Amino acid sequence: MQQRCLAARRAGQTIAFVPTMGYLHEGHLSLLRSGRERGELLILSIFVNPTQFGPNEDLASYPRDLERDLAVAAEAGVDLVFLPTPEIMYPPHYATYVTVEGVTEGLCGANRPGHFRGVTTVVCKLFNIVQPDVALFGQKDFQQLAVIRRMTSDLNLPVEIVGLPIIREADGLAMSSRNVYLSARERQQALALSDALHLASTAVQQGEMNVQALLALATRRIEQEPLAVIDYIEIRDALTLQPLQKIDQAGAEAVLLLAVKFGKTRLLDNHYLTQPF
Ligand code: AMP
Repeated sequence: MQQRCLAARRAGQTIAFVPTMGYLHEGHLSLLRSGRERGELLILSIFVNPTQFGPNEDLASYPRDLERDLAVAAEAGVDLVFLPTPEIMYPPHYATYVTVEGVTEGLCGANRPGHFRGVTTVVCKLFNIVQPDVALFGQKDFQQLAVIRRMTSDLNLPVEIVGLPIIREADGLAMSSRNVYLSARERQQALALSDALHLASTAVQQGEMNVQALLALATRRIEQEPLAVIDYIEIRDALTLQPLQKIDQAGAEAVLLLAVKFGKTRLLDNHYLTQPF
């Protein structure tokens, strides 16, 4: 892979890169479509990265369907699919990790210790292997995108980071490879996430600027679902991810971020509160 990428760079080709864990859906496809427009060489990686999973998380059961993914990738015009193994990425005596401070604290960082260290380490390694001009990520994983932007800037990595909007099912549920874990009842109740975002952003459009009131509104909607267990519901500054005291339409962009568990499945969703849902 490294040789192919180097040759492409020497030939003056721009490289667009979409890192994923596979089990591709329309969210991944939106990144690939944008990558296809931005790069002469479009590279997709599929790697279920063990270092970003905690000991009691779903590494072993994470959904996989390589055959289908390869067909989807070909259809999307991907030029190269990089399929490293854990042994290639983390050979014996592996000892180097990338740690980003600040934006990794709180939200998913609080509930998944070590998660972002795994993400930044693997993304940094993938960037070094692929050497892309542009890399595309989804706003679905809002904090992850902020962490990757921070790492790229702090380490002077010569790659442009592009963040793209959340792709949803027709009924509002944010697409995720993990949605297949949901039972029919959980799937129905999971609509509370997008509903809560909808309620809160509508309230902001109608003039509600009080963070506590907006959080209470979103929380009440999630708590209506008996199977929902809230991990966090927070309103943060979209750029710094610092907690916000109040919504200020003229100032910082506020984002409402949710993590909610249904059984063993942990779902994420978010929305800019200053934008209609
Ligand atoms: P994953 O395979 O879950 O690691 O995701 C790979 C990339 O796809 C990440 O940049 C995600 O943010 C992005 N992604 C996942 N789900 C969605 C979605 N529903 N809409 C947009 N991007 C997504």
